[in-house]
Amino acid sequence: MKKMIPFFVFTLLCFVGCGKSSNESVNQNKNSSDVKDEIVVDSEFLIYLKNLKEKLLKLNINPSQIEKINNVSLILHKNDSSNEVNSFSRDSSKDILGVCKKNTLNNEVTSRKIFIDRSKWELLDEEKRLNLIAHELGHCAWNLKHLDTNNQIMSPHVTDLSENEWAYFAQQIKESNS
Ligand SMILES: [Zn+2]
Repeated sequence: MKKMIPFFVFTLLCFVGCGKSSNESVNQNKNSSDVKDEIVVDSEFLIYLKNLKEKLLKLNINPSQIEKINNVSLILHKNDSSNEVNSFSRDSSKDILGVCKKNTLNNEVTSRKIFIDRSKWELLDEEKRLNLIAHELGHCAWNLKHLDTNNQIMSPHVTDLSENEWAYFAQQIKESNS
């Protein structure tokens, strides 16, 4: 019974209606190097990125694949303070924890940003936070899509995860050609 409440919260919130990757084209007259954004990572996420990189190394992911994490901005998003990301409020019936937004210019990605909803982030335990970061980086760093099955890291709906799911995630990263 002790685990019922956290799992319920997780089921309710985690990855339900995870924002899909969105692509927006920007000014076509500029070179992509002119419009590449600076990478910004909120200090809240640094420990999770460190843990994730260590975990992926142990899963025998090539360091050059792991380094793609460094191309992604991670921003703790306050619902009330900015309308930069409208994905959180576009459909109030959905609980979106995180979203990966990519901008492209001439088929080249010029920015990769993950926005995490602060109020929902605060409800997650350490393990679920790591899973969420891994899920969104799956989209943003390695161009992974959602799986049809539940309870994998790249599933849109997750109620429970085990180490087997990490092995599957590692396999997806190895096979990605981002
Ligand atoms: Zn997703």
